[in-house]
Amino acid sequence: MKKLKGKLFLIVGPSGVGKGTVIALLKERHPEFDYPISATTREPRLGEKDGVVYHFVTKKKFEQMIKKEDLLEYAIVHNKEYYGTIKEPIIKALEKGKTVIREVDMQGCESILKVFPKENLVSIFLTVPNKQDLIDRILKRGKLPEEEIKRRMQSAEKEFAKGGKICDYQVPSLTGKVAQCVNEVERIIQKETE
Ligand code: 5GP
Repeated sequence: MKKLKGKLFLIVGPSGVGKGTVIALLKERHPEFDYPISATTREPRLGEKDGVVYHFVTKKKFEQMIKKEDLLEYAIVHNKEYYGTIKEPIIKALEKGKTVIREVDMQGCESILKVFPKENLVSIFLTVPNKQDLIDRILKRGKLPEEEIKRRMQSAEKEFAKGGKICDYQVPSLTGKVAQCVNEVERIIQKETE
């Protein structure tokens, strides 16, 4: 592997905290950054196109990717579907010195922290002041079965416990204040890439 010149920024935090929204806004402000696509076995939601945020793949294809070591990390998220960070586009972008932004769950963050050069990695944990905010935001996304909400809240509990300990930065993601959250993430990226 050539020397990595850029930095990979992991955006971490529980479901509903606003990772997708923060990344969408960063993308508008910073088209020069790289926003690689992960693979997942979950079904696309209404309006989600293959190849935009995820490559939607079958379980069989995902397991082939694991075998071929195509993934930097992978995890079963919310005890249900596979999600995995695809290695090649990230390494290529970092070799060119680019700033790379990717969201992962806490398991993904922990795995990447174990294998990735520290000098090329920054983890940012998005937090909310209370659980009810999270539930409200998850519910707003559309009707989810009660089981699914329970599953997401259980994952959230685990993420809160770990996020503060293992991530480099914590940024509050307050309801209705997404711009403030993006400004803070932007400030961290600037500082870390100076
Ligand atoms: P969603 O299905 O709502 O898009 O994402 C569900 C969860 O999977 C989120 O917490 C998200 O951060 C996480 N996730 C998305 N991509 C990846 C990935 O490549 N690896 C891991 N480990 N988690 C991911």
